[in-house]
Amino acid sequence: MAERIWEVCKVSFCDHVKRAAALETEMLYPADTLPDPPRVLSHRCSLGMQCNQFAQPTCIWAGTNPDVDPFR
Ligand code: SF4
Repeated sequence: MAERIWEVCKVSFCDHVKRAAALETEMLYPADTLPDPPRVLSHRCSLGMQCNQFAQPTCIWAGTNPDVDPFR
């Protein structure tokens, strides 16, 4: 059976929250019986939900400012 797992791929200090945040990748691993390689499904910031509640735009991972990517 295929398995979906969130994995940390990068940790950076974020100026918006003044602490470390993790960029996470959702991976889809196929069943052991299939020869398919793992697939990347999506990305998110570990603090993205909290940053969505800020009054000001923050970054692309909170979905409020597509011009700022603190992990770049
Ligand atoms: S969602 Fe954006 S602003 Fe918020 S902690 Fe993550 S990288 Fe920083």
